[in-house]
Parts: sequence; C-alpha cells; structure tokens
Amino acid sequence: MKIKKVLSIFLAGCMLAAALTGCGKNETLSESVLVDGNTMISKEPIELSAFMDSSKEGDGQWQLLKEAYKMTNVNVVPTLSKSNTEFNQTFSLMIASGNIPDIVQTYKPSQFCELAMEGAFVALNDYFDTHLVHFKQFLSENPDVKKEITASDGNIYYIPFIPGGDLSQGWFVRQDWLDKLGLKAPTNAEEMYTVLKAMKTQDPNGNGLADEVPYFETEKGANLFPLWGARQSFYVENGEVKYGKLEDEFVPAIKNIIKWYEEGLLDPEIVTRSTNGRDTLLGNNIGGMTNDWFGSTARYNEKLAEAIPGFNFCAFAPPCGIQLSKRPPASGYGWGVSASSEYLNEALLFLDFFFTEEGNRLINYGVEGLHYDMVDGKPTFKAELVAQPNFQKQLTDFGVQVGVGYKQDYEYEKQWLNDIALEGLAMYEEGDWVVEQMSPNLSLKLNSVELEEYNSLYTQVTTYDTEMYQKWILGAEDFDQTYPKFKKEVKKLGYDRLMELMQLAYDRYNGKK
Ligand code: CA
Repeated sequence: MKIKKVLSIFLAGCMLAAALTGCGKNETLSESVLVDGNTMISKEPIELSAFMDSSKEGDGQWQLLKEAYKMTNVNVVPTLSKSNTEFNQTFSLMIASGNIPDIVQTYKPSQFCELAMEGAFVALNDYFDTHLVHFKQFLSENPDVKKEITASDGNIYYIPFIPGGDLSQGWFVRQDWLDKLGLKAPTNAEEMYTVLKAMKTQDPNGNGLADEVPYFETEKGANLFPLWGARQSFYVENGEVKYGKLEDEFVPAIKNIIKWYEEGLLDPEIVTRSTNGRDTLLGNNIGGMTNDWFGSTARYNEKLAEAIPGFNFCAFAPPCGIQLSKRPPASGYGWGVSASSEYLNEALLFLDFFFTEEGNRLINYGVEGLHYDMVDGKPTFKAELVAQPNFQKQLTDFGVQVGVGYKQDYEYEKQWLNDIALEGLAMYEEGDWVVEQMSPNLSLKLNSVELEEYNSLYTQVTTYDTEMYQKWILGAEDFDQTYPKFKKEVKKLGYDRLMELMQLAYDRYNGKK
C-alpha cells in the first residue's frame, strides 16, 4: 500500500504551511511543551480525528478519551468503532483514501514507518524539544526503547506501547492431578512424558474416560521444542539469527512431539488452538498442563473453584530450563500523527500527555474514585473492581490498558494478580530462565527495498513452513520421508537471502551495521 508521490508533496506542503502559521485553527495554550501539573493543551475545546481500535461496549468509544478531553481540552474522536479483527484491512483502506485522521494507531510499525517516510506521518523526533518533551525524557532514560522504535532512516515515527516488566508467560500444571497421580512437576523431557502419559491413562479427573488433554498451548507447540534443545522457528543465539527447523536438534525434537501427539498426550488441536482454548479445556476439567500468561492463567483457580472442587493450577519451573516468551522493551504497536493534520501541535501534545504523570495515571488506572483511589500516594484499584472476573475487560472497554503509546506501570498488573500468579512470577524472576528474544521490531531496520524483499521471502518461507509443520504433527505427511525435500524447498523459496536480511536487520538493531 503506497501513497502516491503527488500526495507526499502535498503533505509536505501542508506541513511547511502549518509550521509557518503555528498550525491549526485554534491556539494551543503553549506553543511548545505540556507543563507539569497543567495538562490543558488548547484554550478552546477542539476535536481531533483518530484512527484506532476501540471499545466493543456501549457506543464503541473509549470513555478514557472523554476523560482525557476534560484534562486537555482536546476531544479525540476515533473514526473506527468496530472490532479490531479487521483493523489491518481498514487501515489499508484509510491510507488508500488519502484521508488520514490526525492521530493513527498501528499494529504494523514497519508498514507505518514506511508510509511515514513517504510523507504520511511526521517524524516525532523533530518535535522532541518543542512538543514531546515528556516522551523525549522517557527515551533518554530508556535507551533500549529508543533502539526498538528507531526506523531505518534514523527517525522515530510512532510512540509504542511499552510493557511493564519482563516476564509474561510460564508453565502451569494441575497440581491436584500431580498429587493424585503421585508425581512431581517434570524437570526434563523424560519426566514430562511420564507425567503426560499418566494424565492420559490414569484418569485424574475421575470420570472413567480417557478424555484428558494432558498438554495444550496457543503457540502450536513452540514451547515444547526446547525440551530437546531445539526451536520451532526463527530465534537469536549469541548474536546470530537461526532457523530452528534446519538445526540438528530439530529432528529428535519433532519426532518426539509427533509421537506424543499420536499417543494423545498433546491437544488434538495443538496447531490451531486459539486463546479461548484455555477456557474450554480447563473449564471442562480435561486440560492438564500449558505454557501461558501468568496473570490470566492463575485466575482460573478463582473462576473454577466452585465448578471443579480441588482445582489447583499452578506455575512450575520450565522443564526445559528456559522460557521462550519475554516482553520486549517496546511492542510493535502504538500510535503516530498524520503529517496532514490541521492540529499538528495539539495532536503531538496529546500524545505527549500520556507521558505526563497525570496522563500516565489515567491510561494505567482510569479515573480516580471510579477505578482507583490514592492510597499512600499510589493509585490503587478499588478492591470491588479487582474482584470482578471481567476486571481486565472492564478496563480495556473503558480505554485503560489498551494498545496505544504509553508506558505501562507494572504496579497495575501486580495489583490484580492473585497469589498463585505472584508466586509464579517471583519463582521465574529468581530462576532467570528467560532467554534473548527476537525484537518484534526487527524489520523496522530495513530500508523500503530490503523490506519489500524481506516481506515477500518471509511470507513464502513461513507459509510453506506452517503447512509442512502441521502435516507432520497431524500425521498427514511422514516426517522422515518429507524432511529432506523440506530442506531443499525452503532454500528454493529464498531461505538464504531471508536469513541474510534478518541478520542484517538484527546487526543494525544492535548498532553494528
Ligand atoms: Ca478422565
């Protein structure tokens, strides 16, 4: 999706005109910085348009934006108020129309930055000293975030969602089943096999049927590969980008996984399972073990306490010695500002607002008195709100803790985590099992020619990869017979060049090239 050159020139003209006239129909209170303690941006109330995902409840608008309006005099009205499932498609249509709202959310930063380089969105770093002083300050204190979001031309075009804390996922097991079976949480592949086999054959849910689904996850089995020192896909090790499926360790790993699948130890839908699989498998008292988010997974203990007496799903140390998932310093989504905005000053200041103390508290905790109270100088969620099973959903429907540009306060999460999740997190923090991750923003480091080639090769290789992997696991193709052909085919599809581009991006990411 490319903007026509003519449009780019037009946009550049608008920007210049805006800069010369001080921009916008209305006067910003201050031509430059947002002052601490006074978050008012505009003298008169003004309305800005925005393209973003929004609430699925009520009128479809995040109430948070109305609260931000009270605090800034800037009323941001999103034009997209449907589900986010078609976000990418709607995004492309919006760009193609040439009618770009003042503020635009993105889930694909490489695409967003490319469009920015063609003139659609402003380089935020041009406004660091004048409009985005709080964000600039944040970046100077967090150089790892800056490294993540800097585009191939050295500019910064979007403000990302910055997750709080490093840890996200861990291993969970039905401890009550282990107790019943007289087993301990597994610490290696062999013990894991023993545990899963016992769950399948010894009826721990006690209904007389072999209906247990011993292991399930939403990442197609990726978390199992390290049990044999292998990886399922692309990864980084000692500064080198590798592709798990062509490494020696892959063969024994997948052979075991296929065997486990055949023996019914893995979820029959392991290659297609989505997040709501957890609800079904745990809710039906058949799921035994998984690797998933600490907070939400630990919550099943409360949700299912009445329905399944004795239900005890708790975290255990990684049986493979490592944990693959880690939160990146900055995520691959956030928001930026249209270069054609008539309210460039206000739009930039509005984004900076979420890096002020007041704005950051609003987007992390919501509204004082409604969502939280100040206790010992700290925003503290109301106990009755946290106790509700849909607590998180209530927050996101309001617009708190959503996918736009701000720094997530880790305290937010700690406040609603139950003891099982907190114990799990503490164990993982202590264990130091999290390994280096591929940045979700690697492709930002490629220029437009490289990016086009990268995207095309990546799609070709991964489409074939996914297809063959599914066939092997599900038994539609024999692994031994088809693996040699697979190795040749990925090369034919441009695997070598893809790895070269990934390595190049990774080296640039680390400031090497
Ligand atoms: Ca059973």
